[in-house]
Amino acid sequence: MSNTINCTSCKSDLKPMAVACPDCDTPLLDSSGAPLKQSDSDYSRYGVHRTIQDDVKKRVREECGFGCVICGNMPTHYEHFDPPFKDLKHNHKADGMALLCTSCHERTKGNPPEIDKATVKFYRTNPDAKKKNSAKHPMFFLPRWPLTFKFGDVEFSGKRVNLYVTGQPVLSIYKLPNGTVGVDAICQNKQGSTVVKIKESVLEVRPSGVSDVVKVGTKFTISNGKRKILDLDKSNPHIMKVVGYETYFMGNHIQISAKGIFVNGEFQILAGGSLQVNATDDINIQLG
Ligand SMILES: [Zn+2]
Ligand SMILES: [Zn+2]
Repeated sequence: MSNTINCTSCKSDLKPMAVACPDCDTPLLDSSGAPLKQSDSDYSRYGVHRTIQDDVKKRVREECGFGCVICGNMPTHYEHFDPPFKDLKHNHKADGMALLCTSCHERTKGNPPEIDKATVKFYRTNPDAKKKNSAKHPMFFLPRWPLTFKFGDVEFSGKRVNLYVTGQPVLSIYKLPNGTVGVDAICQNKQGSTVVKIKESVLEVRPSGVSDVVKVGTKFTISNGKRKILDLDKSNPHIMKVVGYETYFMGNHIQISAKGIFVNGEFQILAGGSLQVNATDDINIQLG
């Protein structure tokens, strides 16, 4: 027994929410014989749901260099340009989608739009972030002072916390002059090339040096293969949490995880530990 509806004309299977056949475009008819219109904007005309499969999204991110194809900025969302979502027939296809930032996406609206589908298609094959090997994200962390800083499960409270390795700052969290949270960080690969840089909360990723950049709500993860280079969580407005950090810096291997802070595999600070100083002081931690 099957609930599958078939096209009256070509007998193809129709998806439950389809209002037309994806193979011959024959419309379904209502009781008065008029063609049905799609009433649920979460579905295409042929019944494909808006949810994009994870592997398809990952391919779009990689091929677009993680930033908006037009300007290279993050955060982005997935834009269907060929075909538009409403005309999607069977599945979401990576090569018919591009990453666009909010402001470039705005410019695709309007009649005629400033950025049309052909332009999006052109940039999809020449993504800005790949061309410049740079995807940028001006991050914004709301002011919620006093703020607790967490590196893995190690907790700090103070005005500013700096982690130094061989005398050089690799990770700092502090208050910016405008009252928001500032983050500075540097992540290098084994060969000593910088792959991620954050300066005053403006993050820059080199697409050639990372395998994925994912932002889900208040969580932000940059990875390279199985390694999480940088994993930030701002879901609690009073805690700025570095869930994970793994980088090489001037020949040292630095890791922050729930287990603690490590340099070259050597344990530096105990997980679950805390360090509290006067809220007006800086915390400077020399590692390695
Ligand atoms: Zn058909
Ligand atoms: Zn853009």
